[in-house]
Amino acid sequence: MRRGSNPTSMRSYRGIAVSPGVAIGPPLIIDARGLRLPPRAIADEAVAAELDRVDAALESAQIEAESAETDARGRLGPQYADILGAHARMISDPVLRKEARTRVERDKIAAEHALLDVLDGYAARLEGLADSHLAARSADVRDIQQRILEQLRLQTEPDAAGSASASASSSSSQNQNPSADGVPSVALAHDLSPSQTAGFDPKQVLGFATEAGGRASHTAIVAAALEIPAVVGLGRFLDEARRCREVIIDGDEGLVVLDPDPVTLKRYRRASAERAARFAGLAGLSGLPAETKDGVRVELLGNIEFPAEVAACRERGASGVGLYRTEFLYLNAAEPPGEEEQVAAYQAVARALPGKPIIIRTLDLGADRLAVFQNQNAADSFVEPNPFLGLRSLRLSLRDPLLFRTQLRAILRVSALGDIRVMFPLVSTLGEFRKARALLNEVAAELDAEGIPFRRDLPVGAMIEVPAAALMADRLAEEVDFFSIGTNDLIQYTLAVDRTNENVADLYNAADPAVLRLIEMVVLAAERGSIEVNVCGSMGGEPLHVMLLLGLGVRRLSMSPHQLPEIKRVIRGISMSDARAVAIEALRQDTAENVLAVLREAFGRCCVDDATETAAIRAPAKSKN
Ligand code: PEP
Ligand code: MG
Repeated sequence: MRRGSNPTSMRSYRGIAVSPGVAIGPPLIIDARGLRLPPRAIADEAVAAELDRVDAALESAQIEAESAETDARGRLGPQYADILGAHARMISDPVLRKEARTRVERDKIAAEHALLDVLDGYAARLEGLADSHLAARSADVRDIQQRILEQLRLQTEPDAAGSASASASSSSSQNQNPSADGVPSVALAHDLSPSQTAGFDPKQVLGFATEAGGRASHTAIVAAALEIPAVVGLGRFLDEARRCREVIIDGDEGLVVLDPDPVTLKRYRRASAERAARFAGLAGLSGLPAETKDGVRVELLGNIEFPAEVAACRERGASGVGLYRTEFLYLNAAEPPGEEEQVAAYQAVARALPGKPIIIRTLDLGADRLAVFQNQNAADSFVEPNPFLGLRSLRLSLRDPLLFRTQLRAILRVSALGDIRVMFPLVSTLGEFRKARALLNEVAAELDAEGIPFRRDLPVGAMIEVPAAALMADRLAEEVDFFSIGTNDLIQYTLAVDRTNENVADLYNAADPAVLRLIEMVVLAAERGSIEVNVCGSMGGEPLHVMLLLGLGVRRLSMSPHQLPEIKRVIRGISMSDARAVAIEALRQDTAENVLAVLREAFGRCCVDDATETAAIRAPAKSKN
């Protein structure tokens, strides 16, 4: 977002901190289609081979554009075909070839970087033109840039040829990690999909930073699950990053530093060591209850996306899984996972936490988590104009009963193994909940007829994520076994702020009085209906908001496992009477800023120990669970 000035070559950028910690390493640039760029610098003796690669890539990209033109003429008509014809001519322009070759020879850089730099220059010149029609042509330059990069990738990964023309789906299934003998790096990209992020190996990808993205995007959630530092919403910084050799990602402060000077590097190394020590210090809390000073017990649960994360829940003393985001089983798949595959995944979680509650959420696809298999034929797929208001979550499941039934069968089968519970995401109306429950009952009857055991009193919950559900919570409470408040979406839909959009990130605020009122309403409805209520959105894992939530009557919080120790520390340091007073005071406020002031004052008074990172007071929403 903002670029800091510095007398050295060090440059820093500020974005949105979404997963805490510090990562230091060489950059791994991942381009818009998920293509990994090789290191920038090349040895003198590699120049000739790189020049050949420039020539070959341009030639094959031209052939590809020409054949796309021919194909489009028959299928899509002359207007679209002419655009592709123009692309082919741009690629075959001798000036482009000459400039790229000069960059390779003069600057000793790889073909990818030479072509990217030259084409970036063309695009930037076009973007700077006053004539908006001409400025829009920069999109064509970006398009041919992708085409050429794809050809360069095929030179080094010929096996990828089958997927060369595929849509974004091809990139999401690619391995984004550095090669096995590669040095662990930090990934830098314009944007990353949740499934791309899920493919990162934390041993190889130490952290990541993106130009796009918002506070509660699912990409951010995956970063927190992997426990790798991440900053999103940085605005343009990749052009600079391509030239740098070392990067620091500060996932606490939302900073990215390119080519840090020795003093900065030393400071961050020390901060990283201190953080590790603090984490180790909190480990001692894992066997102790999450109990306030005046003896009120709070249940702390873990949020998971992958079965492997149960180990982290166990280690950090979670009393169960409060949110299992099952859609991650679907994201990297060529087709939806079958019943047996799902049973295996859910069983792994149930077996790792015997006797503990495990809340399985039915698939929450759509919006920024569109399944790859839905999008395979990109040309035929329906791109929704407003995906967050579109066919997502429970709506999508109800529209595709076969897909839904398969998942419900798998959940019911595993329910016989322990304290399994199920919940539906994004319930907007009572009617929707009823339909989902009816389908669940039908599937249960089927299993019964087949003699397959399942938990007959399976608790069925509704996520409260849209204001409509919060407003109807009293009626929902009559039919639902428990509520789980998904604050990430509740904030988005209450304030009409896209949780993934960096341009409105400053408007996304958990402390907004409208959000607090809805939470209070849901908690009261749950109390009156004698059902449990849990907060499983990011707000529940943010130290600054814990007192408020407890004061509002919440007694169950579910969060990313790495947040559990700190939240437990906060709970053990406060009294419920203080928490109630904070909630009353917060509810009196008329703006988010005033609510935040109340929370910061209380946090500073009650929750800061000597070692507490004061950053928690300065910026409320540090990490996403
Ligand atoms: C939420 O919306 O708060 C939530 C927990 O669901 P997700 O983040 O997966 O949309
Ligand atoms: Mg949600």
